Amino acid sequence: MAIERETLEADVLIVGAGPGGLACALHLANLIEAHTKAGKSPALSAENIYVLEKARELGAHQLSGAIMDPRGLRELVPDFENSAPLDSPITGDAAYYFTESSSYKMPITPPPLAQHGNFIVSLSRLMKWLGGLVEKKGVNIFTQFAGKELLYDGGATTSGIAGVLTEDKGVDKNGKPKDNFTPGYELRAKVTVLAEGPRGSLTKDLVQRLKLDGLNPQVYGIGIKELWDVPPGRIAAGFAGHTLGWPLSSDKYGGGWIYGMRDSRVSVGMVVALEYANPQFDPHEAFQKFKTHPHVRAILEGGKLVRYGAKTVPYGGWYSMPRNFVSGGLIIGDSASLLNSQRLKGIHTAIKSGMLAAETIYTALCSGDTSAVTLSEYQRRLESSWIREELWPVRNFHQAFHGGLWSGLVKSGIQFVTGGRGVADPMRSGAGYKAYTNSHRDGAAAAQLLIDQSTRFKGDGKLTFDRLTDVYHSGTRHEEDQPCHLVVLDPSICADRCVREYGNPCQYFCPAAVYEMALEKGAPRLKINASNCVHCKTCDIADPYQIINWVPPEGGGGPNYEGM
Ligand code: SF4
Repeated sequence: MAIERETLEADVLIVGAGPGGLACALHLANLIEAHTKAGKSPALSAENIYVLEKARELGAHQLSGAIMDPRGLRELVPDFENSAPLDSPITGDAAYYFTESSSYKMPITPPPLAQHGNFIVSLSRLMKWLGGLVEKKGVNIFTQFAGKELLYDGGATTSGIAGVLTEDKGVDKNGKPKDNFTPGYELRAKVTVLAEGPRGSLTKDLVQRLKLDGLNPQVYGIGIKELWDVPPGRIAAGFAGHTLGWPLSSDKYGGGWIYGMRDSRVSVGMVVALEYANPQFDPHEAFQKFKTHPHVRAILEGGKLVRYGAKTVPYGGWYSMPRNFVSGGLIIGDSASLLNSQRLKGIHTAIKSGMLAAETIYTALCSGDTSAVTLSEYQRRLESSWIREELWPVRNFHQAFHGGLWSGLVKSGIQFVTGGRGVADPMRSGAGYKAYTNSHRDGAAAAQLLIDQSTRFKGDGKLTFDRLTDVYHSGTRHEEDQPCHLVVLDPSICADRCVREYGNPCQYFCPAAVYEMALEKGAPRLKINASNCVHCKTCDIADPYQIINWVPPEGGGGPNYEGM
């Protein structure tokens, strides 16, 4: 049945109300305001800027550690310190190496982890505030709307984007319209900005369709975080601790953090690169173990878990940057691989890239030309901005650690003294899922190879938790009766080949207990508990056969990262 859809026309459509998307909207609205005041033509209006956000409210899907380098925000909102909800300025920092029972404080904090001048923030609260500034300028922000598909100009031979189709609402799990069915909108725009964060579903489609990949495929980490309220005096507000070592073995890239916030609140988390060999490695369990280390336990014990969340982080850097402009479209922020993986910071670069995109779009709207040639100015602006100055010297940083922690430290040291060139430049890398070791457990029926779910990590319920308890604390909820948003292209691979070859890593890497292999009439079958999904995108990235496609569920579904 052909669905009749309403079409809305905008000058600019921004997908994602994170730091990049909101910075783009605010800076463009400011440029339009100055343009209008100066009486310039053509007539432009901030009301013709639309922002789409799939969360139930602004900030609800925003998750980060988070320590913010204020450089980007200071350029966007020069007096931000007067009104932004900053939690604490940094008051101290330290880096530790953990063994199972001890911690060794490094004599000096390595410069990339030194935090002087930065702020501990709740990214969720910061985006709620920034979104308020954007709305005051007249920009239209549509929360609870996801970008389901890109609209392309020119069909299969497309070279550009014409806008976005939002998801149909009120569709049941079999794909049939319910009583409250509302067709998605065709939002057509002169320029569409993809600000979806890591592994955006529209960005993935665009990059694959138009072959925009960078030199290296993008590689990701998974970050898992909890907020705790602890007894007073455990950790100073504004103190940032980073750790290497236990419980991660030296062949894994990652580490932990513990930040002191106001009112005895603590941000504790761990990030691990999704390029490990053991398909049964469980990042959530590793994070829970991290909290039992005496150093961390001493801070958290007797406290209370407040909130939980998980999100992926793009580690690839400059050489993983896709071509980030096409006719009618730009890619910004984490979607454009602009995170500094050495400093573990991307909020400031996302904001700056949003501003550079806004300046490019403003010029394009004034000239009436939104072709790829005009929008390629965005790339030129990136290359002459401080984003390149910051990211170019660390262009090979993450790749240096592919051989493990110790050789990585040596190689990154060589990069440090050679301006980032190091032992090879560019240092090539492959997609993270290719790192799994294949077990080829042939000779037994697949059903006999399934794990017993009752043996999974449970936690003590006080300091450590199982995944379902944590999901409860993420505030996640979805409409239950809707099509599954985790599209497995060939479930027969899960039920046989993956059982034998990898032991179904989806059961381990998903931090929200979404995937479970169960026996049905004696045969293995993948069960998907989609309503638990916290939208981290790990499955889309780390599945060894690349057959899991994360697509946006009905808008408004997902976690509620209040305070995260
Ligand atoms: Fe993350 Fe995928 Fe699990 Fe959702 S289903 S929480 S996106 S790994």
